[in-house]
Amino acid sequence: MPKLYLTTYGCQMNEYDSERVAGLLKGEGYELTEEPGEADLVLLNTCAIREKAEDKVFSRLGQLSVLKRQRPDLLIGVMGCMAQLWQGKILDRAPQVDLVFGSAAVARVGELIERARATGAPVLETGEAPLVKITAKPERPGQLKAFVTVMEGCEKFCTFCVVPMTRGRERSHPPEAILAEVRGLAASGVREVTLLGQTVNAYGRDLTPATDLAALLELIDSVEGIERIRFTTSNPYNLTPRLIRAIRDVPKVVEYLHLPLQSGSDRVLARMNRGYTAARYLELIDELTDTVPGIALSTDLIVGFPGETDEDFERTVDVVERVRYDNVFAFRYSRRPGTPASDMPDQVPDEVKARRNARILEVATRVGALRSGALEGRVLPVLVDGTSRKDPAEVTGRTRCNRVVNFDAHGRDLLGMVVPVLVTRALPHSLRGELAGPDGPVVDEGRVLAASA
Ligand code: SAM
Repeated sequence: MPKLYLTTYGCQMNEYDSERVAGLLKGEGYELTEEPGEADLVLLNTCAIREKAEDKVFSRLGQLSVLKRQRPDLLIGVMGCMAQLWQGKILDRAPQVDLVFGSAAVARVGELIERARATGAPVLETGEAPLVKITAKPERPGQLKAFVTVMEGCEKFCTFCVVPMTRGRERSHPPEAILAEVRGLAASGVREVTLLGQTVNAYGRDLTPATDLAALLELIDSVEGIERIRFTTSNPYNLTPRLIRAIRDVPKVVEYLHLPLQSGSDRVLARMNRGYTAARYLELIDELTDTVPGIALSTDLIVGFPGETDEDFERTVDVVERVRYDNVFAFRYSRRPGTPASDMPDQVPDEVKARRNARILEVATRVGALRSGALEGRVLPVLVDGTSRKDPAEVTGRTRCNRVVNFDAHGRDLLGMVVPVLVTRALPHSLRGELAGPDGPVVDEGRVLAASA
């Protein structure tokens, strides 16, 4: 049986695509291996969002060229966003690569590999292709959580971002195809799904008849066996009152929203082409917290966008302090080829980006600790999903608001169950807890956080 070594860089969408590729190639007789040395085919599923992600891939390709010299039969493929962005330039820079293909070509991966093997010449497939819902995936016994891509592409054209170039226009999968996939996942034991899209809350507007994410959430809520529904990433520009009400009203949808702010300065937001002001963003936050009291919020921020002054950066700090995010993902601006921001004249020096990054993380850690500290002494429903990494005698799970909780299960097999857990301590990245009695009170996490706000 030929062996496939598959490495994934980047976002959840890439993880999802990798699963499809592994599933499709399983159908072609490939077996996954953890050892590149014993593989017949190595595929790197790549990310182009920041330069650092690309550097990692090129350095990996350098290591793989050694392997290729020892075993010329080995096929090396680069797929995903870097493939789409750099196309033939990948072959120029890394001639050991046999195959370059974008996410639109995933459905034809078997055929592309065959072509590369048969011709011995590099294969380059980065054109557009009709959207297909691929549900093939390797069997994962005991899998409790799964990603489900509901739409591809992005047409927001934020000036810093390569995604419109790497993943194309917005295209939604039909609700029936998504529902069928979720039903299949539930039947195989999955309890939690995360719906994925670059602007997931723009879901459905390109379909005929048009639909929206709120309607999709209601549909998925009806799937027996699924306990929790998450979705990401939402763009503030497309956040509707209808979706906010769905977070409140659709029972399986968790009270958690990832809502990228990017910057708290209107001047920077305008240069980023984000389509909202800080005041509008904060209005949305108020609407969210009024409708879904205690909702957990997380965000993405970019520090050191071209032209960002200390004053602009302080506006971002202000918003973080004001919103009190549960979690903040801060990135130093990275110049991406072909994006308008990469040509802006006033690039910010690396040391300034580093200083701002450290400062924002310090503020984010402080406000995040306030949020999780407020949970001490409360009993929360926890979906148990594994064994604790630090202590194998303990189990681990997640609250609806996505916090990790570790606790002693007293030998009970709780995997896949939602159980009440008393939070005894809030640590920087997780909660410690104790299993509460089966009839113990389970309080609503959202309401607890609202009371503490
Ligand atoms: N589509 C989502 C949106 O627009 O909100 C986010 C997608 S992106 C995969 C994840 C995050 O990477 C973005 O929210 C942004 O904060 C960050 N990012 C994107 N381009 C970047 C760049 N050129 N430099 C630094 N960070 C970047």
